Amino acid sequence: MDFLKDAREIKDFIVGLRRQIHQYPELSGREFKTSELVADTLKDIGVDELQEGFGETTAVVALIKGNSDRTVALRADMDALPIKEETGKPYASKIDGVMHACGHDAHTAMLLGAAKLLVKHKKKLKGNVKLIFQPCEERQDCRGAKRLVAAGVLRNPDVGAIFGIHVFPELETGKVATCPGAALASSDVFRIKIYGKGTHASKPHMGIDTVLIASQVVNTLHHIVSRRVDPLDPAVLTIGTIKGGEAENIIPDTVEMAGTIRTLNEDVRKKIPLWIEEALRGITSAYGGSYEFDYEEGTPPLINDKKVTEFAMNSLKELLGEGNVLYLEKPSMGGEDFAEYLKFVPGTYFRLGTGNREKGTTYPLHNPRFDIDEDALPVGTAVLSFLAFKWLSDK
Ligand SMILES: [Zn+2]
Ligand SMILES: [Zn+2]
Repeated sequence: MDFLKDAREIKDFIVGLRRQIHQYPELSGREFKTSELVADTLKDIGVDELQEGFGETTAVVALIKGNSDRTVALRADMDALPIKEETGKPYASKIDGVMHACGHDAHTAMLLGAAKLLVKHKKKLKGNVKLIFQPCEERQDCRGAKRLVAAGVLRNPDVGAIFGIHVFPELETGKVATCPGAALASSDVFRIKIYGKGTHASKPHMGIDTVLIASQVVNTLHHIVSRRVDPLDPAVLTIGTIKGGEAENIIPDTVEMAGTIRTLNEDVRKKIPLWIEEALRGITSAYGGSYEFDYEEGTPPLINDKKVTEFAMNSLKELLGEGNVLYLEKPSMGGEDFAEYLKFVPGTYFRLGTGNREKGTTYPLHNPRFDIDEDALPVGTAVLSFLAFKWLSDK
């Protein structure tokens, strides 16, 4: 069996789906037409079980039954972004201000292609394949993966391993890349309110200056990463907003700020909010002010299982050739909610090369001119279906 050859034979099918989804992008949590198209396509393909609206979301979950109890899962995300497309391509978004600028249209189409190939080879499948079409990856407030996991997507039948891919414009078409262990960072959000006492700018001793306190807070919080976190544990703390004051001659009584924290390590992730609060307590009390601190956990660090990743990388060398399977030397401080599945089930998340300079597909993700090299679509379909097939055949 040659999954790459099979996938290339259905390239038109995959490209057609990708372009259709690309033209009608839907924002996170509102993937209604996309999930309808996914469900209809899966019915045509002939999967064994199909659940629409899984976990009271727009998710579609399907099962292809093989001849054992083992189950492997493959996941694609379906949501688009609030970006106005500027590619000028004939298949560009027809929805004003909404665009598939993160390639989730490609992820969905490639997984549908994989479903088609796996159904074709069903008799040789040594177990079940669960297909997860997930909503709401892009926004932290609707938490697509987390909700599906809570609704039991990894059970019944129990999933033994999971694989996913993300298109990547900085990697050449035909190549994939990943690394064992931490590959992407956790992504949490914090909000701070500093309370003081408003007064006339000429009489600072009559008030408590929240702008001055805020400047100390910004300074001290930046020392958390440089002085308290082990230098060998990557972490990022960014304060992205700061708001306070109405006029040059008034000391305001509140200042608000908000930021994000990224780490690759759960221990560090747990400690940073404690250190922030310690700093806030000390600084505000030194000036006679007070604070409110709100910390919201987003996605955890994405940790690729070492054994499964080694297995997956070796398998893909067989499929794509040794030189096309790259070992990522550095993780990224970006976040991805595929991490939610990996908290419970071993698996690997791959980057799929879609960059091609001549075709102009090297714009970064989330850019209005982002596009993929469609020659990568059959590669992605082959990668997904082959990984599922090989993992089930492994024991
Ligand atoms: Zn994205
Ligand atoms: Zn994405």
